[in-house]
Amino acid sequence: MLSAMNLRARAGLGAAASAVTAALVLAAPASAAVAAPAPAAALPGASVRALPPYSTWIADVTAVADQASAYLGDVLPTGSFRPAIVLDIDNTALQTTYRPGLTSPATGPILEIARRAAADGAAVFFVTARPEILGWQTEINLDLVGYPVERVYLRPWFDTQPDAELKTGARKAIEAQGYRIVANIGNSASDLSGGHADRVFKLPDYDGQLI
Ligand SMILES: [Mg+2]
Repeated sequence: MLSAMNLRARAGLGAAASAVTAALVLAAPASAAVAAPAPAAALPGASVRALPPYSTWIADVTAVADQASAYLGDVLPTGSFRPAIVLDIDNTALQTTYRPGLTSPATGPILEIARRAAADGAAVFFVTARPEILGWQTEINLDLVGYPVERVYLRPWFDTQPDAELKTGARKAIEAQGYRIVANIGNSASDLSGGHADRVFKLPDYDGQLI
């Protein structure tokens, strides 16, 4: 596990962001700051049926990411429209459940897709049901682990609509800015339903155990 300081050095963040990160890490209980991998059987929500081991999850993610990567390699770059990709955050862009902590590591194959898409001219948007209050921490986490970030859409204060509607609304808002969403990648059905993307790519949720 990289320390927060190492992550900051790698990401080249400014002094303000590093102070914020240091404060977050210092304020956390020691166990959370260390962010040791939790055994699958001890993860929240895993009491009924244990999650597959990490090696299975990352292999399953990689299989889908390979398809998304090949597709994006075909459609990007393009000069005829403004392309964008949309990523879910928890258990998609970040390894939230398998590698928990205040700063979750990036999911390697998804980070690779995001970087390549950005290099090929696509804007990279993040659409999450995380509440607005976590926006600051979320954006720092994505930045620290190296994601290109056009914008993060979170659940606004006092918003109670279902996740699928919330996320569809965010994609409509992205389109309203003149983008065409060529790929939407997520691990839950509610990340992907509702249209407003040329293609969707579904990562594993193991019957809803990964949100
Ligand atoms: Mg998710």
